[in-house]
Amino acid sequence: MKHRCPICKKPTDSANDSDFPFCSARCRLIDLANWSSERYVVSEPVFEEDEPDESGSDAAGPHESER
Ligand SMILES: [Zn+2]
Repeated sequence: MKHRCPICKKPTDSANDSDFPFCSARCRLIDLANWSSERYVVSEPVFEEDEPDESGSDAAGPHESER
């Protein structure tokens, strides 16, 4: 099965490359680093939304939207 390294776009082969779909262990590590840093950035606004509102205390309860 042929593929392309998502990092450097070099053609890779699952039969020859032990780091498939990456061309090398180095590209695999780069992708891992990219992915985790991307995830960290994305989760920031989500975390902000999850924070309880300090100034507003008129929330009836967690069951309000379930009924
Ligand atoms: Zn590569």
